[in-house]
Amino acid sequence: MKNLWNDAEVAQFTGSLGPRVYTSRLLGRDKSLVLHGGGNTSVKLVEQNLFGEGEEVLYVKGSGSDLETIDAEGFSPVALGHLRRLATLPELRDAELMNELNTHVLRAGAPSPSVETLLHAILPHAYVDHTHADAVLSISNAPEGALRVREIYGSKVVVIPYIMAGFELAAYCAREFQRLAGPDTIGIVLLSHGVVSFGNYARESYDRMIELVSIAEDYLASKNAWTVSLPAAEPRRPRRQEIAVLRRAVSDTAGFPLLVRLNDAPKFVGFARHERVREISQQGPATPDHVIWTKPAPMLGRNVASFVAQYSKYFERNASQAKEEKTMLDPAPRMALDPDWGFAAMGRNARDSAIVEELYDHTIDVILRAEALGGWKAIGEKHLFDIEYWAPEQAKLKRNGAPLLFAGEVSLVTGAASGIGRACVEAFLRRGAAVVALDRNPAISGLLQDPAYLGLQCELTAPQEIADALDAATRRFGGLDMLVLNAGIFPPSAAIQDIAGDAWRSAMSVNVEANLHVMQACHALLRLAPRGGRVVVIGSRNVPAPGPGAAAYSASKAALNQLARVAALEWAKDSIRINSVHPDSVYDTALWTDEVLASRAAAYKMSVEQYRKKNLLRTEVSSRDVAELAAEMCGPLFAKTTAAQIPVDGGNERVV
Ligand SMILES: [Zn+2]
Repeated sequence: MKNLWNDAEVAQFTGSLGPRVYTSRLLGRDKSLVLHGGGNTSVKLVEQNLFGEGEEVLYVKGSGSDLETIDAEGFSPVALGHLRRLATLPELRDAELMNELNTHVLRAGAPSPSVETLLHAILPHAYVDHTHADAVLSISNAPEGALRVREIYGSKVVVIPYIMAGFELAAYCAREFQRLAGPDTIGIVLLSHGVVSFGNYARESYDRMIELVSIAEDYLASKNAWTVSLPAAEPRRPRRQEIAVLRRAVSDTAGFPLLVRLNDAPKFVGFARHERVREISQQGPATPDHVIWTKPAPMLGRNVASFVAQYSKYFERNASQAKEEKTMLDPAPRMALDPDWGFAAMGRNARDSAIVEELYDHTIDVILRAEALGGWKAIGEKHLFDIEYWAPEQAKLKRNGAPLLFAGEVSLVTGAASGIGRACVEAFLRRGAAVVALDRNPAISGLLQDPAYLGLQCELTAPQEIADALDAATRRFGGLDMLVLNAGIFPPSAAIQDIAGDAWRSAMSVNVEANLHVMQACHALLRLAPRGGRVVVIGSRNVPAPGPGAAAYSASKAALNQLARVAALEWAKDSIRINSVHPDSVYDTALWTDEVLASRAAAYKMSVEQYRKKNLLRTEVSSRDVAELAAEMCGPLFAKTTAAQIPVDGGNERVV
């Protein structure tokens, strides 16, 4: 394992927490050490209080931070003397522990201290680092794991059996550490959980973490268990409707829409086809706290009902043993291993499903290396249940509050690189949807850096390109709930007798026929949307009130309008609703070049300035105004509305 310490880099981290922030980020950078909020670090400082007295403070990673990006604010300052006293109590319930932690934070507004805070407090060293290193987990979860750990580390570490994080673990560690730590002890191995290092300086503690993990990696290499290979495996790429069927089943089971993210990389397909997949995949995750993202085990194949039956039995078996009453979480899987498809990750949003995939990517490494040592063995399901249904872990998930309006849903926007389309992308992202943005402009792919955004270059007049885009979208997000038909062109103004055949045909091709193709291709996905499909057509004021010189545009938009009305009739039985907005006076779009604006103004015998404000309310209508209405039309306000046509034009007397 590479030591990433860099003198020039650390110099940029100033203040008393500077070195602590720096090495925390170094740990976070290596995904084989910690993933997504996993692991934690701390430093003990003496600070002057308002009375001029020196006070011992433990700065420990607060919940909600990721080590890779943590800053000084991400650490929670806790009264260290109080924590040390707590650890000496004969017992302390979880709820009491959380209360004590949160009421002894010394800065208003600081994040909640990590649930592993007491473990940091009981160690005498200034710096403490804790990770869930893959290599250490592979060894400790192999046959005779505890023996192997003792053998490779000797007195360098104190070995602690698996105990759930919290008071009991800290109290046990405090006793064992005092009893067993020697002069050369530099860390603790928490069996089936992770590893701890410590030191008087940030660098010392970090160096020791790298040393401990490197020893584990070298051991695995010496046993031919570091580089593990799977047989080459060609996936069978599912049809997109099959993916949407799975997503529908999973969402119906959860009671809310979930995204499904497929990965058929050879590693995932190979693992899904592993001859012992049933034994090795069903025991549990690499380290227990993955369970809050992943549930205890992946679904094998795609039979959601049988997963639910299994999960419910797991809940009943363990809930009946629990001290307090437990309420079952939704029983939908968060992972699936399918021999044809590879791996599927489910999440309430795109970030969550990507996290699940990354956790399992590492879990496969941990499992296969333990297998190479003689057999993977995870902690039993009782321990997993204790974590999955542990109140502080549940609180972590609920921290973000109520889900956003379109959480777990997918929206597709055409003509999304600029103007109203771009504004729609943002309006749907703000409401929590994953967004597939199509445009003929290749810049679409890099327009936004957001896991919920998938930009695809697509020529909408080419049905094969639409099909390819929908395949990619479905593999990334699992299906389609909402469709915004926005792409359109505005041909040069011409009197009817002067309209060029090409101009007419391209208006019809882009503004009508391309939309027909998109609708045809999307129908099978929209009818599988967990909350029903929704389509919004970006029409035009030209539909109810056409203008001279714009026959090709007006006729094509009117044809599209009629197409939408027929779709409302035909698709209602599939629970798909389709509504239109008719914008006008929206000048921040690609259609409205200075040239077009001048020529339209001339057609109305107005100045450009007059033309811009020719609506009744004398107001500017922006792309965002249109996009916000389009997004709301997909939400609950319009749940009982289909075939509506709503102007968003500042009021037009010809429409009134
Ligand atoms: Zn941990």
